[in-house]
Amino acid sequence: MRIPSPRSPLVHALGYGLAVLLAPVLLAGCSPADPHAAGPAAPGASGSAAATPSAMSSSAAAPPAASPAITSAAPSARGRTSAAPAPTPTPDPPGSTAPAPPPAASAPGGTTSIVYRAASAGRTVALTFDDGPSQYTGQILDLLAQYGAHATFCQIGPQASARPAAVKRVLAEGHRLCDHTVHHPQPMHTLSHERQAYEIAAAKEMIGEAGGPGTEVAWFRAPGGDFSAENRLIAVQHGMRPLGWSVDTRDWSRPGVASIVAAVQHGLRPGGVVLMHDGGGDRSQTVAALRQLLPWLTTHGYTFDFPAT
Ligand SMILES: [Zn+2]
Repeated sequence: MRIPSPRSPLVHALGYGLAVLLAPVLLAGCSPADPHAAGPAAPGASGSAAATPSAMSSSAAAPPAASPAITSAAPSARGRTSAAPAPTPTPDPPGSTAPAPPPAASAPGGTTSIVYRAASAGRTVALTFDDGPSQYTGQILDLLAQYGAHATFCQIGPQASARPAAVKRVLAEGHRLCDHTVHHPQPMHTLSHERQAYEIAAAKEMIGEAGGPGTEVAWFRAPGGDFSAENRLIAVQHGMRPLGWSVDTRDWSRPGVASIVAAVQHGLRPGGVVLMHDGGGDRSQTVAALRQLLPWLTTHGYTFDFPAT
């Protein structure tokens, strides 16, 4: 079976058209439906306010209706890659902890294991921002520049296409990019292999086109942390390492600036990867929290790093 080429103008147009049509729904549901806390926090990671029932209740608003076209997986599409075992079709209920990811497999170009740590040893931190670029990305970049901090931005393909200047600025100011799919499908692992491949490959292409020639996208982060052996292998086949996190600020749920700050101050350990969001809704709390966190991190001797690759 042939995978529709992400470069196919028809597929591209259809995909983008779908994204545009669904954008209000997807974006409206992106944050509440983005149960990142159920995702791949590092084993033993602390600092995640993850399992508070009140916070998770907002996950019940997950908009499955937002992606009917995306989830129409043809059963025959499975199994086309023998190296990628079919994922468990049962999605986690809201509030559950993430299942242990399948063991890493070797793949051309890298390992499919999820990275939970910064690249360098020592008192380092890798800040990551998901679901952008958006109107808030510029404010976050301003703050990062003020403190000489670097971060990694996990972008959604059509949003990168819509805001190429923001993507170029991310690169120009020394930050790095991560693929966060085309449509932010949740769950992702239940989609057909072809749809998952499209979500990953087309988003990387959109981000690359927005960033310009030579743009590198070194990581892939599944929406909601819904990694599977299948989508991790697809990512590696496209030159990207699956990226998790060790500190979940739950900023997408707008828990209050103090809560976001506390999640980092209490949960971060040297070498940690912090999950925040520069898109998917009103991110003013994230911006305000970052304004406190950057001086705190600096004062406490942290240096800003990228995730391991
Ligand atoms: Zn996301």
